[in-house]
Amino acid sequence: MVIHPKIRGFICTNAHPLGCAAHVQQQIDFIQQQPRLEQVPQRVLVIGCSTGYGLASRITAAFGAGAKTLGVCFEKEPTEKRTGTAGWYNTAAFHDAAKAQGLYAKTINGDAFSDEIKAQVVEAIKADLGQVDLVVYSLASPKRKDPKSGEVYSSTLKPVGQAYTTKTYDTDRDEVKEISLEPATEDEIANTVKVMGGEDWELWLAALAEAGVLAAGCKTTAYTYIGKELTWPIYGHATIGKAKEDLDRAAAALRSNYAELQLEAYVSSLKALVTQASSAIPVMPLYISLIYGVMKQEGTHEGCIEQIYRLFTEGLYAASPTLDEAHRLRMDGFETNDATQAKVKALWDKVTQENFHQLADYEGYHADFLKLFGFGIDGVDYDADVDPVVSWS
Ligand code: NAD
Repeated sequence: MVIHPKIRGFICTNAHPLGCAAHVQQQIDFIQQQPRLEQVPQRVLVIGCSTGYGLASRITAAFGAGAKTLGVCFEKEPTEKRTGTAGWYNTAAFHDAAKAQGLYAKTINGDAFSDEIKAQVVEAIKADLGQVDLVVYSLASPKRKDPKSGEVYSSTLKPVGQAYTTKTYDTDRDEVKEISLEPATEDEIANTVKVMGGEDWELWLAALAEAGVLAAGCKTTAYTYIGKELTWPIYGHATIGKAKEDLDRAAAALRSNYAELQLEAYVSSLKALVTQASSAIPVMPLYISLIYGVMKQEGTHEGCIEQIYRLFTEGLYAASPTLDEAHRLRMDGFETNDATQAKVKALWDKVTQENFHQLADYEGYHADFLKLFGFGIDGVDYDADVDPVVSWS
């Protein structure tokens, strides 16, 4: 099969196996060029391990510290006629690279919100690892089926309290335009908290603790985005922000419930980056294109792998990490500092359809978007026939 990108709206509906493998290898290479990680535990569970920040976390633990990694993801397997999802190919490539270096890797593909997958993970830990000493929670999902009631909840991306009108960039039409978003209802807020809040993170830790597979002194982190004034109306102070506030509640509850185990639970705040999850959020493509340009000029631009390497070295495994007032690890300072935000705000006020491509780094945004699906990567022949069916063991 010859595989070229098929883009529909904010999503690419196919992926390139060799391109995804090359993208994973680039991240492994970056980690292997850094000083080796000290004091990083050797048995790591990553929930949401196949793309974005979760994949970067898995790569950092495995190739930076030689850790055994167990991953959970929800990806589509390829067939002869249809490519798999990028996360599928990334996982296959991760397994190949881990195997080549003699590193243990196991991945369970299924719904992380379900009791069945939690039970499978517990069994795998018991059989292969004994216990885990780091649990990374990096799910991004529009839906969650409650494991007890069977009810399916959907998240919404809407402002809270009042309608919000702002600029956005329509990636499909190459158009800067205004959008108006109506405020969420109370139900929509509650449902978003149900999907993206802390409840499932707590259920994971409860299942692991109950089975006795959490090592004493285990650390766990879930990821958040806090941002600043420009993104607050649609993110920080919006439905998704309410869900993220619930992570802070959950982290405190975890620290207190598992104090005997000396569990360290952190919410880690990361910078805005192009991932499958963020490209679906209105306003974010415009904001990210502008901030990419500013941060590249400032020399502070980072991708997922650079952010997570710093999270491990300056946050999770630092001797005395700096925590904010809500006990969070903050890796987003290069983005959220006042001087950088002022530059983005000035561009934001100025940006129009006519000047968008001069003011914003849309080229960088789009290149990163394509890379998520294994496209636009140097050294990959996109006109060559490739077998879409790839698996891992
Ligand atoms: P992503 O879409 O790249 O990754 C999501 C992961 O979750 C994938 O591995 C996917 O397979 C897995 N997943 C989704 N639903 C699942 C399910 N039901 N069962 C099992 N696995 C499932 O997303 P991302 O951007 O890396 O986001 C990860 C976390 O980081 C999220 O909490 C997000 O809010 C946070 N974050 C993202 C950004 C950003 O700009 N992208 C910034 C800060 C924080």
